[in-house]
Amino acid sequence: MSKILIINTGGTIGMVKTENGYVPNLDKFHENLSKMPELSASSICDWDIIDMLPLLDSSNMTVEDWNRIGELISSNYNSYDGFVILHGTDTMAYTASALSFMMENLGKPVIITGSQIPICEIRSDGKDNIIAAMLIASEGIVNEVCIYFRGELLRGNRAIKYSADGFMAFKSPNAPALAQAGIAINYNEGILLPKPADAFNFQRLENVPIGVIKVFPGIQFDLFSNIMTESLKGVVIETFGAGNIPSSAKSLLPIIEKAFANGTVVTVCTQCPQGTVLLGTYETSNALKSAGAISGKDMTTEAAIAKMYYLFSKGYDTKTICRLMETSLRGEE
Ligand code: ASP
Repeated sequence: MSKILIINTGGTIGMVKTENGYVPNLDKFHENLSKMPELSASSICDWDIIDMLPLLDSSNMTVEDWNRIGELISSNYNSYDGFVILHGTDTMAYTASALSFMMENLGKPVIITGSQIPICEIRSDGKDNIIAAMLIASEGIVNEVCIYFRGELLRGNRAIKYSADGFMAFKSPNAPALAQAGIAINYNEGILLPKPADAFNFQRLENVPIGVIKVFPGIQFDLFSNIMTESLKGVVIETFGAGNIPSSAKSLLPIIEKAFANGTVVTVCTQCPQGTVLLGTYETSNALKSAGAISGKDMTTEAAIAKMYYLFSKGYDTKTICRLMETSLRGEE
């Protein structure tokens, strides 16, 4: 029988209502887990659980917390067949993206899940999410970091939090689901990442300074000039459509040129949830390309941020980082 490790980081799934709003509650969470007969059924895999304390509302997740999750997976890698991470939904797509890069040559499932309603409440979606995530982790079919939510298994670095209050909280607009969990769990075998030939390795992330600029009509780019210093390592610019910025925003290009000269990696992503950046299609994007910006193609902003953290943490030079930003490393683009 396979054995999985559950890493509980917090999130709504284990929260209780207080007069200040929902907060994680370790005892209550374990009390509710112990009331789930499914977790001791003969058909469920063996499992252990580690609580990563203090449990967090995922809005409070930091790069150091990603490192802590990664270290727990890494130090237990050989003892388990798969991993389930319980996590708040708010930053789940960021954590999934970050872990996908940190886990080099991952050869086991790492399934992140949570819920929109705490497990202690009667309409909770948490129970189904945990059980299905455990089954997928124990089956060992995927070799990647995924998000499981409400019947769908998504590639973690392709997912976005799509709904603040619906049970289908996540979508993967540019990549099909890796599996659908209906009566059976049906994997989309043709698109799963292959089992790696090389040994697993865990890369810690450094909290390198990264910024995100979202373009909007009337944006005054000169306001951003002050943040474009040599200490800024990377910027994601969320543009309109296929990578377009207002032509009237004359101040942006000198800023990007300055950033480029400083060695800052400027990655262009689109504000559209679906579709890809194609720099040079319109005159309004051509200038970005000439100024030295690189295309984030159809990467989510979450994946682009996580990838920059990863590539800078690897210690690569700027040219290599620019090249790898435009190369799919874990199916993220
Ligand atoms: N604020 C919560 C969190 O991200 C929301 C959730 O879990 O759904 O931890």
